[in-house]
Amino acid sequence: MTPQETLAELVKIDSVSSRSNAEIVEFLERRCAALNLKTQRFAYRDELGVEKINLVAHSGAELSNDTNIELALVGHTDTVPYDPNWSEALNLTERDGKLYGRGSCDTKGFIAAALSAVENIDLKILNKPLALIFTADEEIGLRGAKHLAQLNPFRVRYSIVGEPTSLQPIRAGKGYSLAEIVVKGREAHSAYPALGASAVFRAARLINHLERIAEQLKSDQHEAFDPPFTTLNVGVIHGGSAKNVLAGECRFTLEWRPIPTQPSERVLHLLNAAIKEEQRADPDFVCEVDANRADSGFETDPESRLIQLLENATGRKSATVAFGTEGAQMQALGSEPVVIGPGDIREAHRTGEFVPVRELESCAEILRHAVRELCG
Ligand SMILES: [Zn+2]
Repeated sequence: MTPQETLAELVKIDSVSSRSNAEIVEFLERRCAALNLKTQRFAYRDELGVEKINLVAHSGAELSNDTNIELALVGHTDTVPYDPNWSEALNLTERDGKLYGRGSCDTKGFIAAALSAVENIDLKILNKPLALIFTADEEIGLRGAKHLAQLNPFRVRYSIVGEPTSLQPIRAGKGYSLAEIVVKGREAHSAYPALGASAVFRAARLINHLERIAEQLKSDQHEAFDPPFTTLNVGVIHGGSAKNVLAGECRFTLEWRPIPTQPSERVLHLLNAAIKEEQRADPDFVCEVDANRADSGFETDPESRLIQLLENATGRKSATVAFGTEGAQMQALGSEPVVIGPGDIREAHRTGEFVPVRELESCAEILRHAVRELCG
């Protein structure tokens, strides 16, 4: 089958993250079994009790803690939701050399290219184990990959993680961390502010601190990134109940994207120090911090054999990205990861998402070359 035909089959299967991905996993199991790859499921239930499955298809013996996969091709099976009025969402449609459909670019195009690459290789001639890793729930916090990294069921030497990069190799990515902060106050009639304490004024002071912390973080530079430092954002804020009442509570989100050389906790320490300072000035200052996400970044040496190989195969220098990927979880499994795939990240997550046919086909070629070079 051509990558395009495989992609049409994959797009037909609705695999929005809120649903179970069992149907697309069954499809992938059949395709991998036909290639004489062994498959193993790593399933879990999400917080709503829905079954989610990571599927690992591999060329070696049974998987165990002693298994050393030489190269893993990694693609996530889930997609973001689609507008029900978009008639092409589950029906791959070609126009002007572009293939439209939900997931065509993020990341079913890469999965189709990976299957096609492996189909065109005689697996019997491979000396080192190859694996295809299909993950769940990437779009809602990399949960499938995190589950797999936590189980740590085998080791991986090199991994190619599929994400739309227009076929540019990505050798490093920033992490992603999130905290929700609740500042407490005491409600009172606004005509008598001395009778209460405004949570909004308190939150404003703390956010002022955060803006200074954002400045301070600029001094810890990692030149490979744009921007070359950890960034902060207070993206959402809610506080108070009425214009003439001192706010009893103010909540806001703090998001930061740490450079991979800086631990995610660095910003949390700075936040806690800022809170302590507020408490010294205002002993009544009460604030809760729920740090609920700390995804690390990843970084692979530019001299890595995998990076060199992909730079040569694509004719493009490797780069870095400021968004989160499964690269970090693949690094946790022991590998040197690189992120690459057909399609443009700016086209992903939109109605009218597409992947160019030429990029899809050349991705299959590049992956085939990588498997031959690294596992041959
Ligand atoms: Zn993706």
